[in-house]
Amino acid sequence: MVWKKGDGMGDETVSRKLHTGTSTWVDTSTTHLPHQKTPAKRFYDVIVIGSGISGALSAYTLADGIRSVLVLDKRTPVTGSTLASTAMLQHEIDVSLTDLSTMIGAEKAARAWRRSAKAVETLKDIILWDNIDCDFQVKDTIYLSGPEMGYRAMKRETALRCKQGLDAQYLTGSELKEKYGIDRTAAIVSKPSASCNPAQLTAGLLKRALAKGAELVSPLEVTDILATQEEVSLRLSDKRKLTCRHLVIATGYEVLRKLKNENHSIISTWALTAKPKSPVPTWMDQTLVWEADDPYLYFRLTRDGYLIAGGEDEEFKKSHYNRKKLHEKTDKILRKIESLLGIEFNTPDYRWAAPFGTTMTGLPLIGAVPKEPNVYTAMGFGGNGITFSMIAAEIITKLIEGETDEDQDIFALN
Ligand SMILES: Cc1cc2nc3c(=O)[nH]c(=O)nc-3n(C[C@H](O)[C@H](O)[C@H](O)COP(=O)(O)OP(=O)(O)OC[C@H]3O[C@@H](n4cnc5c(N)ncnc54)[C@H](O)[C@@H]3O)c2cc1C
Repeated sequence: MVWKKGDGMGDETVSRKLHTGTSTWVDTSTTHLPHQKTPAKRFYDVIVIGSGISGALSAYTLADGIRSVLVLDKRTPVTGSTLASTAMLQHEIDVSLTDLSTMIGAEKAARAWRRSAKAVETLKDIILWDNIDCDFQVKDTIYLSGPEMGYRAMKRETALRCKQGLDAQYLTGSELKEKYGIDRTAAIVSKPSASCNPAQLTAGLLKRALAKGAELVSPLEVTDILATQEEVSLRLSDKRKLTCRHLVIATGYEVLRKLKNENHSIISTWALTAKPKSPVPTWMDQTLVWEADDPYLYFRLTRDGYLIAGGEDEEFKKSHYNRKKLHEKTDKILRKIESLLGIEFNTPDYRWAAPFGTTMTGLPLIGAVPKEPNVYTAMGFGGNGITFSMIAAEIITKLIEGETDEDQDIFALN
């Protein structure tokens, strides 16, 4: 195999600052993971680049005690975008079923939504089966009407979701006011949804993969990739090389340079946690909230009663670097929630900003990388990136095992 000078230019993925400010999960004590500084071998059956939720789910699914699996990260494990996540585990895709049907056809759109619902259930099964301590809570989601979808469109969306076998219940403005005390013209209440601590979930999955023989190495950056029909070679920041039979690229919003295209973009987003000043209605413990606006506001409670909220997205890659904006944006999010709920909150305990990946369809990009044999990518873009990472792990595992996933066409990179 010949390395061509300039292949990957010694900088295979786009480097970014993945958070500004302090995420609420940085103080989670149980996320420390044993890891090595160097790989024990030169060849692995599978190498996974990235130790965030996408890499962790892929490693968890692939590590079977037989296959040799290596997870590599240039950062300390679980300190990428996953640490910035608000971790609402939703099946609802950012693009409504109605709009997605227009974009990619009704059959594919319904399959994407149903697969997303199945992924939330699978996440739940894994967490419960493997007893992963991550503050996991099953919840409903309430989607509030707004400028992007009024009550008539919400009624049509509910009917379409029900027709496609999804759970959705339409609420009129007066029902919404009565049950939730919120003033909007309509809402959709749906299942399945959940919430968790994303750092603990990721660390828990990686620990299970390590217990099945996977290795975790950090910090070590992959700077070049060369794929052939037989094997994939990786050049590392310490100038060493590794080879593997299959490579999974789970580098989050630090996208592989050759995969950059106009269908996905990186924007900036903001989030916070704050304690309510007075008791909140009980429905808030059991419900994730988001709205039909662009950008949209979203929030939930943690088990210990903290509000976690986010929104105020901007179409600029680097707005999230701005410290002044961090306070302005998070204050604005909190004021909006106070006005929506009629509840006051204390000054936020944590405020953070981060880059965020979106696609036009709201769908992630998962599967084989065109023209790179044996290379797969799990780019869990979109508001439900964690749910998409679950789908990615399932599809990629099947592809590596030489099988076909019934939904791989919907998420394929080409
Ligand atoms: C503020 C915010 C709120 C969000 N809220 C939600 C939500 O409520 N629900 C939801 O489902 N999703 C949410 N998301 C999205 C979700 O969190 C992300 O999709 C997910 O965390 C991405 O995980 P990842 O593993 O793909 O990336 P990361 O966690 O960033 O992991 C990728 C890793 O790859 C490593 N890496 C990159 N390049 C290289 C290289 N060349 N060599 C070695 N290592 C490399 C990085 O160091 C990093 O650790 C949110 C995202 C943000 C930013």
